[in-house]
Amino acid sequence: MTSRKRRQLPDWMAVCKVQKTDTDQDVPCSSASVNDVAVTSGNSSGNSSNQDENCKKIKTTSSADGADTKFSKFDNTVLKCYSKEERHSLAAAEFQKKMDDFLPEMLFTGTLTYSSHKNDCNALCEEIESSFVGDFIGFDMEWPVTYRPGQQDPTAVVQLCTGPQQCYIFHLSTMECIPPQLNRLLKNSNIKKVGVGIECDLWKLERDYDIQVQPIIKNSMVDLALFANKVLKTTENWSLDGLVRHLFKQKINKNPEIRKSNWSQYPLSETQKMYAATDAYVSYEIYQRLLNLDKN
Ligand code: ZN
Repeated sequence: MTSRKRRQLPDWMAVCKVQKTDTDQDVPCSSASVNDVAVTSGNSSGNSSNQDENCKKIKTTSSADGADTKFSKFDNTVLKCYSKEERHSLAAAEFQKKMDDFLPEMLFTGTLTYSSHKNDCNALCEEIESSFVGDFIGFDMEWPVTYRPGQQDPTAVVQLCTGPQQCYIFHLSTMECIPPQLNRLLKNSNIKKVGVGIECDLWKLERDYDIQVQPIIKNSMVDLALFANKVLKTTENWSLDGLVRHLFKQKINKNPEIRKSNWSQYPLSETQKMYAATDAYVSYEIYQRLLNLDKN
């Protein structure tokens, strides 16, 4: 017979028994020092106004940090300032954050079509419009990040996802215009364009190129952040990644090195293409999921 070895939990997952006082509660914690603290339900005895002031300072200073750092800084003095409930919610927030680091990455795995010439782009858009069976496509755009105040580089890439297996990446930088068939596809009110913050993106597209976006905004787009709030009955300021985490328990690659890379340089790297396609793909999947939730 073999003896079973108990699995060692990492520190941050450990559940510590708080020294028994008037309450006897398990408090999840990341700090071994919790064991040493006598808890008096957040109201320490012999409380001086000095202690109150100190706590106020500790709480305001640490609230500027994430739950992560807030918790790692916990020592006896800090812990005494928090009630049992507050410590529970901080521990839960930290736990959630740690768990999020282990979320799998949502990646586009279908066919990626990269087009850097306006004739190709026109042909592809015509094909999409004529053969499209759905009624929405995932939409996103990329441009290089500039550090000149008040200035933005023009939109370099427009990416469309027409289904879980197909994404198109149109490299506008090399076309130097919005090809007419792409313009037509964007304005086609039978095919909704869905994306997070898509209205701002479209206004940028109008500033950068010769295109009128008002009809698209009016008839042919869905902002996923607003739609999510409607369906989920929330009032969040959703990001693409936030929605992926909430709806799919996955995350997307937001590596700043790729996000802030040079999107106007031809040709795009494979990493850039995958990043761009994934943003349009997850927009597609988010809308599909929200539609399903809305039906139920
Ligand atoms: Zn993007």
